[in-house]
Amino acid sequence: MSEWIEAAEMIKSERWNIFLECIGTGLHLKLMIVSEDGTLLTKRPESCPICHQTYEPFSRQPVRWPLNYGFFLDAVECSSCRQGKSNFSVADRARLAADMLSSFQNALAGLSGEIRTVELSALRKLNHTVISLCHGEENVQDQLLELILNALIILLDAEGSWLEYADSGFSALLIKGDERAVEAARLNRYSFETTIFEINQGNLHGELGVLQPRDFSRAEFLLPLMAEECIIAFDGVCLCRLLKKQLDVLLGAVGSAVVMIDRHYRIIYANRQAEQLMNGANVDLLGSPLADWPGPWLGYIRSNTVIPVGGQMDSFPDKYSDSDICRVDWQVSPLLEETTVRGWLLLLEDRTDYYHWQESARQAERFEATAKMVGVLAHELRNPISAASGLLQLMGRKKDPELTRNYKDLVLRELDRVTRLLNEFLLLGKPSNIEAEPIDPVAFLQELMPLFQGEAMGTKSDIILETGKVSPVAADPGQLTQVMLNLVRNAVQAADAGGRVIIRLEEPGNQVCINVIDNGPGLTPEAMKNLFRPFFTTKERGTGLGLPIVRAIVHNHGGEITAFNREEGGAVFSMSFPPAANKKNSETDVLIALEDNLFNYPLEQALLSTGVKVTTISGLKRALQGSDEMGSFEIYPKVVIAESPDGEDGPKTSALIAECCTHWPDSRILLLVTSIQPPSMVKETDEAILYSGNQQVNYIQHSTDLTGLISTVQRLLEHWE
Ligand code: ADP
Repeated sequence: MSEWIEAAEMIKSERWNIFLECIGTGLHLKLMIVSEDGTLLTKRPESCPICHQTYEPFSRQPVRWPLNYGFFLDAVECSSCRQGKSNFSVADRARLAADMLSSFQNALAGLSGEIRTVELSALRKLNHTVISLCHGEENVQDQLLELILNALIILLDAEGSWLEYADSGFSALLIKGDERAVEAARLNRYSFETTIFEINQGNLHGELGVLQPRDFSRAEFLLPLMAEECIIAFDGVCLCRLLKKQLDVLLGAVGSAVVMIDRHYRIIYANRQAEQLMNGANVDLLGSPLADWPGPWLGYIRSNTVIPVGGQMDSFPDKYSDSDICRVDWQVSPLLEETTVRGWLLLLEDRTDYYHWQESARQAERFEATAKMVGVLAHELRNPISAASGLLQLMGRKKDPELTRNYKDLVLRELDRVTRLLNEFLLLGKPSNIEAEPIDPVAFLQELMPLFQGEAMGTKSDIILETGKVSPVAADPGQLTQVMLNLVRNAVQAADAGGRVIIRLEEPGNQVCINVIDNGPGLTPEAMKNLFRPFFTTKERGTGLGLPIVRAIVHNHGGEITAFNREEGGAVFSMSFPPAANKKNSETDVLIALEDNLFNYPLEQALLSTGVKVTTISGLKRALQGSDEMGSFEIYPKVVIAESPDGEDGPKTSALIAECCTHWPDSRILLLVTSIQPPSMVKETDEAILYSGNQQVNYIQHSTDLTGLISTVQRLLEHWE
């Protein structure tokens, strides 16, 4: 009981009130100590030490934490200045304050015991807490030193304490307690009144002293420890300041808006550019929830992305800025400690000007190209049209029908050229609407051979088709025919009489190649340079549109085309296309192999929405064969969803399970059945598990309600190794 009275006396003292206020300032809290029945033991702070606004008496319920000896700490946050702005919740900060105060209570109570460690730990805790909580604030160093000086007075039951220091040309004197008495004693240096410790550390020089400590020997032993804490405070603050300065310099130089987000999705750092970009509403960014600044990044951050993601935001909301910002490039990078996400870095770049400029440049380019093209087209059209009109005039003058028939043929030939030019020109403008379907290139080219031979008829050159087995490609048959006809026609014309044109199909690596090879004179250097330029032609009646059309079509099919000369003479036009089956080779989590497409689609969509990689093939048979209408593929899914053909223990089902287990030995098989009556299976509510060899097969009730199925799939994926 006497201990309680002693402790209560001490807590009620003015010194404790100052100390409490000091800690409260550091933590941005109003702190009071109360007894178990709620009686207030310390002074009720009237105004906030930070914003100096008067506290509203009962504006909010205090957070309460127990201290030693049956005391409690009540903590309230100032509603006008710090509400929601700290990186720590009120409860967290109140707990830290209670921790510190309890440590000091222990330190004081243990005057006769093992005090050094208790005091030291109290001080360390205090120092580190304040450093971590107040970093970024201007007066953090003063707050720390003030705390240390107050702690000295309390721990030594002294009249006052002081710290005089000079640090890199800056000097200061801090006094706590009875200021006048401290000043007099400090100047006169009455050895019987004061205990002083000299600090000399790098650029820091000074002295730490106490006036009238109750126990001088205790003061002598405590002062070096406190001085050490002062040095830590100086170093820590200096480092923080340097880091902040560097960070600002570095991030300020980036030019982008940089925002740091903690794992509670709150903004803990924003550089000047971020303030400018996001803060049109003039709200304090620091400490505010990221949700106040919505954007596509929010979803990624909320789903705790561990990989950097980025994109463009076309309409960055106007409310943030008066200027008409509308396009922003953004990137979110997780801040990882080992594998744990501690926060995120959001980079935003206002690219409005750039995109405007790019769009205008593109438009100008398009306009120039169109103007050029139309100019050339007009020129190309003028020749046959003026030839035709000249011929028509002649025809008007000649009366002999024999002569005019000749002219008529010539006019028709010229008009035919006009039509051809216009048709090809139009084709060049819109080859983009492709209606792709899976095509077996071998069969496709074999079918086209008569057409090619028709092209070669007048020249007596040979057309040879050399094929190996190649994968199917997804292509528009009409457009691919056009491509082949143009290339073969050019090759036949180049090879000339008695020449040879080879169409060779091969699949080196992961691309299907169609090469058109001739034994003509090859491409001239000029042709090499201008090959795909519209209207470039060396032929008397050529249009110069064949190859540009070919290239546009090939590109629209995701392919490439190159041309080169062979050493032995002749030109090669080589096209490569991605095989249609390629799409299916990507990593798949879940393979849906059900026959019922009405069920497949919603299931696929539901699984995709949970972030799972899904491949759907209608029918297990196709999936097992590794082929469908788009060609062959290989898939190694983690989970295969199939349906049982004849109930859970029917012979067809057993055969199917065996086949699935052999084909996908590492996958989990999930069989949908209409009813479950498992004889030897582990039964769950509507699901049963069966073991086939070492492999687990799950049965689940076939139902249109997908939730059970989805959660089973998720569970299987979680356990999948
Ligand atoms: P056009 O056939 O109407 O001239 P293209 O765009 O198809 O238009 O061809 C452009 C030019 O490229 C041809 O005029 C020719 O000079 C050159 N060229 C095309 N294919 C070959 C080839 N196989 N060998 C040599 N030159 C070729």
